[in-house]
Amino acid sequence: MPLAPDPGAGTTRIAHVGLAVQHVEALQPLLTGILGLPSVPLADSDGAKIVGYAAGDSLVELLEPVTPGTPIAKYMEKRGAGIHHICFAVADLDATLTKCRDAGIQVIDPEPRLGAEGKRVAFLHPKSTAGILIELSEY
Ligand code: ZN
Repeated sequence: MPLAPDPGAGTTRIAHVGLAVQHVEALQPLLTGILGLPSVPLADSDGAKIVGYAAGDSLVELLEPVTPGTPIAKYMEKRGAGIHHICFAVADLDATLTKCRDAGIQVIDPEPRLGAEGKRVAFLHPKSTAGILIELSEY
């Protein structure tokens, strides 16, 4: 479900920013009520309840830990609420992952998997990316 027309082959854009929160409803009064961002239904993923808000052609994804021991739950236990990851949509996910591996960047997912938007995604290891969790997605 693209939020905006494909900006063109080769154009990398911010697909979404993932925010770890205790409750996905917590920011709705601000995001929808004040900022006017419509909510977007998303699939739960990785033991987290996920609600998206469309901000132009990007999403803000609120990630609420539901299952103990899963990545968002562990993140919340260790660091509390915060900016969890940023996701870039790339024109050719497989080629980009190959370039990452060739550059010595550790890819967490051995193979791309389906993310909350139903698109193929893969995460890069923060040890390889200045401590920032980065997700790459197909358009
Ligand atoms: Zn994500």
